[in-house]
Amino acid sequence: MKILLDYSLQELEEIIVSLGEQKFRAKQLLDAIYNGKDYSDKININKSLIDKLQDSQIVLQPINIYKAKVSKDDSVKFLYKLNDGNIIEGVLLRYAFGNTLCISTQVGCKMNCAFCASGLNGFVRNLSAGEIIGQVITANKYLGGTLKDRKITNLVLMGSGEPLDNFENLAKFLSQITNESLFNFSVRNITISTCGLVPKIEKLADLGYNVTLSISLHAPNDTIRKQIMPIAKSYPISAIIEAAKYYNLVTSRRITIEYILIDGVNNTPNHAKQLAELLKDLPCHVNLIKLNEVDGRSLKTPTIGSCKQFLNTLLNLQISATLRRSLGDDIEGACGQLRNRELKNIK
Ligand code: SF4
Repeated sequence: MKILLDYSLQELEEIIVSLGEQKFRAKQLLDAIYNGKDYSDKININKSLIDKLQDSQIVLQPINIYKAKVSKDDSVKFLYKLNDGNIIEGVLLRYAFGNTLCISTQVGCKMNCAFCASGLNGFVRNLSAGEIIGQVITANKYLGGTLKDRKITNLVLMGSGEPLDNFENLAKFLSQITNESLFNFSVRNITISTCGLVPKIEKLADLGYNVTLSISLHAPNDTIRKQIMPIAKSYPISAIIEAAKYYNLVTSRRITIEYILIDGVNNTPNHAKQLAELLKDLPCHVNLIKLNEVDGRSLKTPTIGSCKQFLNTLLNLQISATLRRSLGDDIEGACGQLRNRELKNIK
């Protein structure tokens, strides 16, 4: 089984020609797929080509919505089913400025961060580029969007998986999703999150896409970081900050620092001061997030008062920061949580 969206337009043209069809059919086919069409739909392409693709076991839509849970604030948590039966999740966040889709890059995750549900069931496999693009096509269709009238405005690669641990498919995804003749996303509207894979941050800078880089730091020193993020044993915070500075230098993009506030672990004013010291020379903005408690994890959410105190300490030290409102709390907002509940139901 092959996924058509894994091929670039040029590769697809070669396949179409090898099947004895005309080259321009490749773009026609991609237009139909980006409009959410599958074999069961009416596709305005000669039947002989459709038959040949089906005979070659080429999949048009690699994922479909298995469940969609709508929150009180209108955000939507999706469970998608992949062609091999694996389940991944995604979140659609509705803001005044547009619709942001949070997408996954792996089934499960190797990183096993202590505040996250995605690593609880281990790592299964990487998603292909087509499976990553498929999430955008599927959510866009859910909103009534098409190729020409795209309803998803922003993409954040913050769902399950570590995007930089699936680098090759990530690079292919960026090339396709920014293609001017397809969805034509601006790199300014794409954010890639990482737990801090230092060599890959530098590689991403050199790739030249200039997307927003979001670093999940979550700790003001290596001792605390090692307690909640196993990756901290491989890369110290100092190396991550250096890589972030390199990314800023190459791309001129301000870095986003994600910091989940966890009660009794990393949320005191003294921790805020240590964080400010780390970040004082890095052009960045800090997103503070109150922990979303996860089933099967023991970490606790802090009071809103302590979160505001942490925020004010950073602001007083001239660090740009905001306390993010958490959307979708009533629909298992924590990354990986809905999938884990579903996996339990299936077992
Ligand atoms: S926070 Fe990100 S890197 Fe860490 S386990 Fe969850 S998905 Fe993986």
